[in-house]
Amino acid sequence: MLTSHKQTFWADKVIVANGRDTQFLFPEHYHGAELKISKLQMLRLAPQKKLIKSNVLTGLTIRRYDSFKSCPSFSKITTTAEQAALQKHGIHILFKQADDGSIILGDSHEYVPAHKQADFGFEISTEINELMLEEAKKVIQLESWHVESSWAGFYLQGTKSEVFTKEIDNVIHLINGIGGKGMTTSPGFTQEYIQNLYQK
Ligand SMILES: Cc1cc2nc3c(=O)[nH]c(=O)nc-3n(C[C@H](O)[C@H](O)[C@H](O)COP(=O)(O)OP(=O)(O)OC[C@H]3O[C@@H](n4cnc5c(N)ncnc54)[C@H](O)[C@@H]3O)c2cc1C
Repeated sequence: MLTSHKQTFWADKVIVANGRDTQFLFPEHYHGAELKISKLQMLRLAPQKKLIKSNVLTGLTIRRYDSFKSCPSFSKITTTAEQAALQKHGIHILFKQADDGSIILGDSHEYVPAHKQADFGFEISTEINELMLEEAKKVIQLESWHVESSWAGFYLQGTKSEVFTKEIDNVIHLINGIGGKGMTTSPGFTQEYIQNLYQK
């Protein structure tokens, strides 16, 4: 394996986990329908007095994430037209207060097939930011709603599996598309994958 710094590495096993940019390394192994890219918009509100000790998620979060579906009363949840309008943009509302007192407010989700990444463009949608702010104001009272910054983040997500894995030969493994749960679940997944690799 040769890096961009011209370093050469030799290894018995190589795991390529290069995230959403699937067009550069082994693009021939990524087929459009198996992966999509999610674009998330988030906001940072002005620093203010400490109010939230832990993350606050909302009813839209419960409606959005599959793990809640196993709750006995999940089927009784109804969705208003207003909520459905937010769900069209994949919006659920979450708050987290950072150490400097600023409030992270999120987030929305839009999708394109992995090979159509360019379709996202570079824009941050003001409409989506305003929808999030409007909904957030119904949930919590804050000292300031001044938006200091807004940004978009992206991740790759498998459409047919929880994680996209492909063994190219006995040496190179592509692992990608863990989706919106990668920060939480990737250590466990990786440990199990590597253990299995050496048990073969
Ligand atoms: C806004 C946002 C909020 C999120 N919130 C959560 C959350 O609350 N909980 C949760 O569990 N997950 C969350 N996630 C998802 C999580 O961030 C991803 O699942 C995770 O980052 C995916 O890990 P990865 O290693 O597959 O890809 P990445 O984290 O994208 O890492 C890929 C790395 O490969 C590098 N790379 C690419 N090409 C090359 C190359 N040719 N040579 C060398 N290096 C290369 C990239 O620079 C990058 O560092 C969130 C994601 C976003 C964007």
